[in-house]
Amino acid sequence: MKTIGELSQALRSRTVSSVELVQDALARVASAQARLNAFITVDADGALAAAREADAVRSRGEASALTGIPIAHKDVLMTAGMRTTCGSRMLGNFVAPFDAHVVARLREAGTVLVGKTNLDEFAMGSSTESSYFGPTRNPWNPACIPGGSSGGSAAAVAADLVPASTGTDTGGSIRQPAAMCGITGLKPTYGLCSRYGLVAFASSLDTPGVFARDALGCALLLDPMAGHDARDSTSLDRPREDRAAALRAPAPVRPLAGLRIGLPREYFGDGVDAAVLAAIDAALAKMRSLGATTVDIELPAVRHSVPVYYVIAPAEASSNLSRFDGVRYGHRAERYGDLADMYCRTRAEGFGAEVKRRILIGTYVLSHGYYDAYYLKAQQVRRLIAQDFARAFDRCDVIAGPTTPTAAFPIGAKADDPVQMYLNDIFTIAANLTGSPAMSIPCGFTAEGLPIGLQIQGRHFDEARILQVAHRFQQATDWHLRPPPGEGAADRKGRR
Ligand code: GLN
Repeated sequence: MKTIGELSQALRSRTVSSVELVQDALARVASAQARLNAFITVDADGALAAAREADAVRSRGEASALTGIPIAHKDVLMTAGMRTTCGSRMLGNFVAPFDAHVVARLREAGTVLVGKTNLDEFAMGSSTESSYFGPTRNPWNPACIPGGSSGGSAAAVAADLVPASTGTDTGGSIRQPAAMCGITGLKPTYGLCSRYGLVAFASSLDTPGVFARDALGCALLLDPMAGHDARDSTSLDRPREDRAAALRAPAPVRPLAGLRIGLPREYFGDGVDAAVLAAIDAALAKMRSLGATTVDIELPAVRHSVPVYYVIAPAEASSNLSRFDGVRYGHRAERYGDLADMYCRTRAEGFGAEVKRRILIGTYVLSHGYYDAYYLKAQQVRRLIAQDFARAFDRCDVIAGPTTPTAAFPIGAKADDPVQMYLNDIFTIAANLTGSPAMSIPCGFTAEGLPIGLQIQGRHFDEARILQVAHRFQQATDWHLRPPPGEGAADRKGRR
């Protein structure tokens, strides 16, 4: 399997054409679909047409680094003319009339869209089991979940169906599946990538981001995705950065010299699997050997992040999902009495159990008499969590720890226990509450051969730094290059 950087080089040197790469990707997607269920929609004709166009652009000498690279988008991002389902019956046949901003940016950069990936319904979940289209399976062990909610995107990259994909991260939905599928995932700073055309779950937390095999691949995708968009009022106008070029600059002899890594006491305590802790310790030892120093820090309010999130996210979701009423788009009940009955039946039929649970919780915490006790209090504690991080970043440049307390678990293991499912996100949620950037990179395996992820969190807009740390770690290790069993052995066109 090859990284985007390598594929980009192969395209540049004409060792392979985009049409060949896309044919290869389509064949792999088709052959893996029954086993993994990573995709909801595949657009073979559209992808091949785009690949031919990319090859033509290249022969005119107008190609960029991403021209002709096949990718997939999480099916919560609008794609003009292609179905966008959000993993829900509610939008089962919905065809978006426009592209999400990040989709358009990646199209303009020359990527070829192969299809849309599976996810927990409306991105609510940590396992990709709540999709109306059935669960996605983990390429490392198909009896296990791939993580979620962007599980289809993560599994697609892990199984080498596509070299990169997009995801969205509201409470960990990029980093957690990246960790569980043994790939690299980046959640950028809130506001760096426009949310226009990302179907809203919790608007103050939702963040589009990327999956790739390595940090350089993430940077190559992030660079064109980032940028101001007047259609999202929280999109920020920042100077353009070439993060990929920064990674390609030669590294010093001690690649991480001067880097101060903060280790939050709260991320290394009870409830973290011993194999996960051992892998994280080994990764940190490696980083020290590359020149980094580690400092112990405290983030006392972070222990409240799961309850805070599970008030704020459902509150915002209950409001955002009110638009699915059978009137304007998506599913409408066939039989109903009056208008109110039509709303009720449409929503009862269209939404699955987890989405309904969130709407109920959200409506409750926002209701008169409970608003102050729950929603307002959660917002106050959210501020305390942000203050903890601000203080910690006075003493360190990045914060590291496990991405998740455990590796992937068997399908069904937590499906009936929402609280156990919610606790999966205990280490990832804070970065959404504060809006800061964070990544997960592969750093080891359990005895059962399941991948383990190291989370690296940065200051706001410090994507370049966390990418750099990840990149230099990856230059010195090969965790991110190990293929799942049965993958990567085949000798395919343009590939190892
Ligand atoms: N697992 C979390 C949830 O269920 C986060 C989901 C996400 O980031 N989209 O809400």
